[in-house]
Amino acid sequence: MSTTDVIKSTENKNVHYVKQYIKNVLQQEPGDTVTVKGWVKTKRASKGIQFIQLSDGSCFTDLQIVIDASKFEENLLKEISTGCSLLVEGTLVESPAAGQKVELSATDIEIVGSAPVEDYPLQKKGATFEFLREIAHLRCRTNTFGAVNRIRSKASWAIHQFFNERGFHYVNTPIITASDCEGAGEMFYVSNSLAVENGEYKLKNKNPQEDFFAKPAYLTVSGQLEGETLACGLTNVYTFGPTFRAENSNSARHLAEFWMIEPEMAFCNLEGDMALATEFIQYVIKYALDNCSDDIEFFNKRIEPGILETLEHVVNSDFEHVSYTDAIKYLENSGEKFEYPIHWGADLQSEHERWLTEKKIGKPVIVYNYPKEIKAFYMRLNDDNKTVAAMDVLVPKIGEIIGGSQREERHNVLVQRIKEQNLEEEAYWWYLDLRKFGTVPHAGFGLGLERLIMYITGMKNIRDVIPYYRCPRNADF
Ligand code: ATP
Ligand code: MN
Repeated sequence: MSTTDVIKSTENKNVHYVKQYIKNVLQQEPGDTVTVKGWVKTKRASKGIQFIQLSDGSCFTDLQIVIDASKFEENLLKEISTGCSLLVEGTLVESPAAGQKVELSATDIEIVGSAPVEDYPLQKKGATFEFLREIAHLRCRTNTFGAVNRIRSKASWAIHQFFNERGFHYVNTPIITASDCEGAGEMFYVSNSLAVENGEYKLKNKNPQEDFFAKPAYLTVSGQLEGETLACGLTNVYTFGPTFRAENSNSARHLAEFWMIEPEMAFCNLEGDMALATEFIQYVIKYALDNCSDDIEFFNKRIEPGILETLEHVVNSDFEHVSYTDAIKYLENSGEKFEYPIHWGADLQSEHERWLTEKKIGKPVIVYNYPKEIKAFYMRLNDDNKTVAAMDVLVPKIGEIIGGSQREERHNVLVQRIKEQNLEEEAYWWYLDLRKFGTVPHAGFGLGLERLIMYITGMKNIRDVIPYYRCPRNADF
């Protein structure tokens, strides 16, 4: 069969996008005739019968295709190998195999695209995650990454549904911005003055005023500041978009590009913020438990034993609330030897966060009221003048999953805080305007989608819960 023949014959049956997914076929009855399309995961032969595991990514379970070798051309059957794409027609028959009701007895098979055995990099089962990162363009065909992608999709859907049910507006804040929201300086510049000549960067002009935006601009580290302006008019809003941080680390929980969900609520204080964060995490996890049970079962068996029980527990129990001051006391009295010393005023490192949530409390914890020196300028100053109304949600195995706060709504206090942190007051003129015209108490938080997916799946490296990961020295695919 020549390539052109294949394309011609499949064109006729492929005039529309796929509507008959393997997920649905697996629920049909013996005797039904179906056509399925997908990729071969494995093939084995025994006594004139060939068995193929076919996947179209619609669900965890593959469809078993049973082929009576005597009924097909030998050359065709030879060409079928792991990774090739097939179109198979046949009749469903009762499956003797455990875990599936039916299998497909093939009457017609077309190879849509072959995958030469010598070259196809995904031949063996059990490839390491490190190896799969090098073939990120193919890894969604494996059991693990199929499951990760499905859970990511379902969780995203659940997130929109959660906010929509509560009357929140979905808003889009800019990706290119001139303000550094976090003041952490981990920004990627956006400029059209940069060019590559002879393998070197050349600046076409040195003056930011002559650059595209006539001032330094960056990829956003958070949509929060703009989100606040929208909440102060639309009441409850959320963003869900890409976020960029030039984190120069090889951490297993930081990416240079990640997806953040940022609700912002007018007429809301820190307590309301914590309540929403809890309800939100529980909702998304429950949705995943209800709608991705096969995938979660796989993670429970193969990736993180016990994750299923953990998730069920999280859905049904309150999160512990601990003030920063109490958290420091617990840490100081823990008897643990931490790499970073801990004392009142120090930022919590991942090791501290994990000790608190794993060892001390044993479930998600919300730490609140942090020292103002270690938090951003926009967080509301508490009456003690030492702490701000900030809160971080910490979960076992990961640490921080959500960072949020009540925002400073008092104009004079905010100006003072901007000065204290040596920020340029003029740059925040529009942000300060919110505090001049109809100011309201308001609060919000940011959740990194990838951290949530790590939590739900038990995957240990953030690079394995996003299709293409961006980190130092990796923007290849
Ligand atoms: P961390 O201390 O873990 O670096 P952060 O304090 O910088 O987090 P925030 O600025 O509060 O985080 O951002 C809100 C949320 O965004 C975090 O709770 C986390 O879920 C997520 N997040 C932050 N930075 C990253 C990153 N580099 N990669 C992936 N997710 C991130
Ligand atoms: Mn950070």
